[in-house]
Amino acid sequence: MLNELPLPDLAATSAALPIPEEETEVLAAIRKHGALSRTDLVRITGYSRPKMTLIVGRLVQQGILREVGEGESQGGRRPRMLHFDTSRGYVAGVDLGATSLSVALAELSGTILERRTEPADVRDKPPLILDRVCALLLEMIQARGIDATNIKAIGMGVPGPVQFSTGRLIAPPLMPEWDGYPIPATLRETFPMARIVVDNDVNVMALGELRGGGGVGVENFIVVKIGTGIGGGIVCHGSVYRGSDGCAGDIGHICVDPHGPVCRCGNVGCVEALAAGPAIAARGVEAAQSGSSPLLLARMQTRGGHLTAEDVGAAAAAGDRIAIGIVQDSGRMIGEALAGLVNFFNPRLILLGGGVANIGHQLLASIRQTVLRRSPPLSTKDLRIDYAALKLDAALIGAITLALDHVFV
Ligand SMILES: [Zn+2]
Repeated sequence: MLNELPLPDLAATSAALPIPEEETEVLAAIRKHGALSRTDLVRITGYSRPKMTLIVGRLVQQGILREVGEGESQGGRRPRMLHFDTSRGYVAGVDLGATSLSVALAELSGTILERRTEPADVRDKPPLILDRVCALLLEMIQARGIDATNIKAIGMGVPGPVQFSTGRLIAPPLMPEWDGYPIPATLRETFPMARIVVDNDVNVMALGELRGGGGVGVENFIVVKIGTGIGGGIVCHGSVYRGSDGCAGDIGHICVDPHGPVCRCGNVGCVEALAAGPAIAARGVEAAQSGSSPLLLARMQTRGGHLTAEDVGAAAAAGDRIAIGIVQDSGRMIGEALAGLVNFFNPRLILLGGGVANIGHQLLASIRQTVLRRSPPLSTKDLRIDYAALKLDAALIGAITLALDHVFV
């Protein structure tokens, strides 16, 4: 029984004990196709029959899979079909953005049962936000009569550098209060049976795109999140690549202008300080106040003196020359940083996500142009740059995937 499995003492760690690769492959096949027989699984995975018998035996014993009836006969005995034992547990995904918090409850099959989103300020102290994570999840499970001990894993994406082995943020510029805070131990006070896996938000998005979005079947690709900050997630040889300490892909602090402004990280001219949402908004305000863009000024007046990157995008879509220039400049600077990555990593695909990625086609066009101009022809011959397929859901779906990948040892 799953509930009787002894859990190692994971209170102080991220519980990053992944389910063995063969098991993950079998579970992924069932997630994709629905109930399958052992023969189907042998055909899909290429594992031998005896090996599959062992793998399935372990998964059934752990309460992850169960036999759900008989399939079509292929001439002999009707094969027994296997599917997730959804009565044994649930997982949750948490996507903490700079300004919002989303929590989803899912079955072990990966099917999302329910989700909640509310505004949040990531600069708040961790207990405040983690209390809301627990409250939202408790609301969802209590309404369904599910006990907190039935939550078997929680995957959480956070907008900062995460030491993956401990699930702790290390010196996060966007959320300084969280430096070294024990997120896993805190969540386990409410969900004692859950393995808590914390990762950088863009790594989580990359995982979501890899398993169920635009990156399915692509071996090497990069996901770029453009929002309040800029971050990257790297998929290398079909897995999320986290680097030695967990901060691979932290591309927001690549310098694109040595004479640029001081970034919140303390360095000068970072692409994040020049091209992310706040920089676009600030340039919009400047254009409004200087009188160079009457459209932005009018918009600002209706917004109580503020502008967002989305406002600048809307003005660009309406044909405002200054706003178009701001969006294009932002795309050019992001493109400069990405061109360096393309030279270095030779990805097949770059997916753009995050709230600011969708502010207008000029951003994507300008990024594409800059990367193509700045990278060698061989590396761009088959390179595709596009929007993330899962859009704003990538991080939440990725967080659930992260939980599912770590739900059992
Ligand atoms: Zn920086």
